Amino acid sequence: MATEAVRETGWASRGSCRASDPELFFPDAPFPEQEARAKAVCGTCPVIVECRAYAVRAGESEGIWGGLTTAERRSLRFPPGWRQRAAS
Ligand code: SF4
Repeated sequence: MATEAVRETGWASRGSCRASDPELFFPDAPFPEQEARAKAVCGTCPVIVECRAYAVRAGESEGIWGGLTTAERRSLRFPPGWRQRAAS
């Protein structure tokens, strides 16, 4: 189980955010400028694809991961109209 978790997030040790204040990515009260600054860090990150895929798959409910906010990740998991398509 622990090995699986390490494999799942092993890319994190190479993330550009390691040198950043965690508050930038997990703010108590997010505001647009802070979100833009966090996304700029993600934009330089060599593991953005892995980070985004993990966060969407895991359903991370807080913070900016892979350059996406919680709402943006949710829209990838549940695109508009997904309920109607599933019901038909
Ligand atoms: S994509 Fe962003 S949140 Fe993910 S590891 Fe890179 S810098 Fe950190």
